[in-house]
Amino acid sequence: MKSFLRIICVIIICVAIFVFSGMRIKDIDIITNENTFFNVANNENISKEAIDNINNNIVEGNSIILLNVENPIKTNQQINDWRLVLVNLENPIPENFQIELANIDSSRQFDARAIDELNALLKAAKAAKVGDLWAQSTYRSAEKQEEIFNNKINEYMKMGKTREEAEELTRKYINESNTSEHNLGLAVDFNYINRDFEKSKAFTWLNENAEKYGFILRYRKDKVDITKVNYEPWHWRYVGVEHAQKINELDMCLEEYVEFLENNNS
Ligand SMILES: [Zn+2]
Repeated sequence: MKSFLRIICVIIICVAIFVFSGMRIKDIDIITNENTFFNVANNENISKEAIDNINNNIVEGNSIILLNVENPIKTNQQINDWRLVLVNLENPIPENFQIELANIDSSRQFDARAIDELNALLKAAKAAKVGDLWAQSTYRSAEKQEEIFNNKINEYMKMGKTREEAEELTRKYINESNTSEHNLGLAVDFNYINRDFEKSKAFTWLNENAEKYGFILRYRKDKVDITKVNYEPWHWRYVGVEHAQKINELDMCLEEYVEFLENNNS
């Protein structure tokens, strides 16, 4: 009897694996044609490696996959560098992304691999006497992110907005769970979430010096059409020193830089 139950369990697990691995490819739409791999969403060739990756997840070994035009998947997985993980509305945090956190203080955490550079930046700003500069908001769990998102929607609805309007307004500043860089542990909001921050001495100092510690201004005024996020002078993202310097030198936002690297790697 026991062995019979064991067999049943194994069958159930196999069926579950089969169903779930099949489900994973439902949201991917790529058309592949022998050796021509074509990303329908943005008319770009994508790497053979990326296609193999997707094909390996196809249960029936099909050579035709469809790419979702409405929700294009950026080929960010080609860049194997944790510092450059691109997280935005179109790119949620990869399922396999590992977060190692370290404490900034009793209530704040940051990626353990980058925390020394954040601390060094804060120390240098203090030494440069730029006025108060502190890490206000850093890592947030996906649950916390969802709570913040929903609270903001409720706030707008209390102001008389419809659910749809409230969601649209909320999305302008707050990302849904798993699509916020704060869920990565690599983003920091300095001081108060306020546009006036851009007039502070600390902000001027950050613009000149943050790259030395591996940080970039993530949502620039002149890149809103690409990032799809409003200008946020307080929000800075860790990408590592060499990438930060290169990004600033090229005058790019992270989306452009990741695309630039992909095009130059393949
Ligand atoms: Zn932020």
